[in-house]
Amino acid sequence: MNHNNILTIDNLHVTINHTEIIKGLNLSINQGEIHAIMGKNGSGKSTLAKVIAGHPSYTITQGNIYLYGEDITFQEPEERSHKGIFLAFQYPIEIPGVSNADFLRLAYNAQKKANKECELDPLSFFDLINKKTEFIDMDSTFLTRNVNEGFSGGEKKKNEILQMALLKSQLSILDEIDSGLDIDALKTISNSINVIKNDNNAIILITHYQRLLNYIIPHYTHIMQDGKIVHTGDANTAKQLEKYGYNYIN
Ligand code: ADP
Ligand code: MG
Repeated sequence: MNHNNILTIDNLHVTINHTEIIKGLNLSINQGEIHAIMGKNGSGKSTLAKVIAGHPSYTITQGNIYLYGEDITFQEPEERSHKGIFLAFQYPIEIPGVSNADFLRLAYNAQKKANKECELDPLSFFDLINKKTEFIDMDSTFLTRNVNEGFSGGEKKKNEILQMALLKSQLSILDEIDSGLDIDALKTISNSINVIKNDNNAIILITHYQRLLNYIIPHYTHIMQDGKIVHTGDANTAKQLEKYGYNYIN
C-alpha cells in the first residue's frame, strides 16, 4: 500500500470576526486513511472543515495547509475542489432555480475541464449520474428537483454523498453526515462511503456519535477541544468516549 501524504496542517490559527476559533491545530493524513474528528459542540470541527475547503469567511492568521506537499493555504475553494478536496456540509444549502442534474453536471465538467479531461454532454452525463443514484439507493426524481429544495435532512445528506461519489475526491471531509439519518439510511450511506474509499484517497469523518464509526471504521480518532486536537487515538477511542464521555481525555 502507498502511503503518500495527502494533507498536512501545520500550526493552523483561524479567526472569524476577530475571534480566534482554531488555535494551533496540527493534522497529517496519508492516502488510504480514514480519520474521525470528534468533539463537543463549538469545539471548531465545522470551522476546520470549512477552512480546509477554502471558505472565504474565515481568516488564517498563522500556519499552513498542504495538499500533496503543495501549499494551498490561500488558494480559492474551486481550485482546491479541482485538486480533489470535497466537503459535505453539516447543513447543505438549498439552491432554488437550479436543477440538481444541472448543478451536478456543471460541477463534474468544471472538474474535468480544470484537469484537462473529457467533459460529458447532458445525455452521457445522464447515464453516469443515474448509475450513481442507484449506487447510493436514491430515487432518480431527486435529479430533476432543485438542489436540496424541500429535501428532508436525510435526503440532503444523501445528496452530498451523491456529489462525493460523482467527483471521485482525493480527500472527502464529511461533516456530521450521520445527523438526521434513520438507521437504514445510515447503513446505506456508510456502505457507499466504504465502497468509494480506496488505497489512494482519504476521508475525514466529523461526528458527534460513535454510531457512525460502527459502520465506517477509522484508522485514527482525534478529539477537538477549544480549537485544537487534544487527543489522538484509534477506532477504540470513540467507544471509550461513548462510555465515559469527554472526561475520558482529561
Ligand atoms: P463545531 O462544528 O465543533 O460544533 P464550529 O466550528 O461550528 O464548532 O464553531 C466553533 C466556534 O466558532 C463556536 O463557538 C461558534 O459559535 C464560533 N463561530 C462559528 N462561526 C462563527 C461566526 N460566523 N461568528 C462568530 N463565531 C462563530
Ligand atoms: Mg459542526
